[in-house]
Amino acid sequence: MDIVRNGERPSVYGDPAYFSGTVRQDPIVTCPEPARARAVIVTFEPGGRTAWHTHPLGQTLHVLSGYGLVQKEGEPVQVIRPGDTVWIPPGERHWHGASPEIAMCHLAIHEALDGKHIDWEEHVTDEEYNAPRAD
Ligand code: MN
Repeated sequence: MDIVRNGERPSVYGDPAYFSGTVRQDPIVTCPEPARARAVIVTFEPGGRTAWHTHPLGQTLHVLSGYGLVQKEGEPVQVIRPGDTVWIPPGERHWHGASPEIAMCHLAIHEALDGKHIDWEEHVTDEEYNAPRAD
C-alpha cells in the first residue's frame, strides 16, 4: 500500500502544444504496471481547452464544477455541467474544455496502453470552439 499525502503532488500547467488557454492539472494517480489506470483533476479557465485528441483505451470525464464543453468530431459542441459523466470510447476524436465565460473542472480517468493514454492532434480553432452548441 502506498498513501500519497496531500501536498506531495504539485499542480502542473497544460503544455501549450496540447492546450489552449490556461489549464491546470492536479494529478491523483498514475498506477504502476501492470495496472493501467490514471486519474487527474483538470481545471480549465474560461476559454481553456484541450487540442483534438484520442485515447487508446477510452476516457471517462466527470464534471466537478463550472460549465464546460465537449465535442465528438462530426457532432455539435455539447454543454457539460457538474455531475455529468462522459464516456469517450477508444480512438474517438474529441476535445473538452471550459466555456468562453465560465471555468470548468473535471475528473479525468483513463487507462494507458503501452505506457501511453493519449494521442494528441491539432489545436481546436476559435471557429470550432465558438460553433453553435447542442445543449
Ligand atoms: Mn479526452
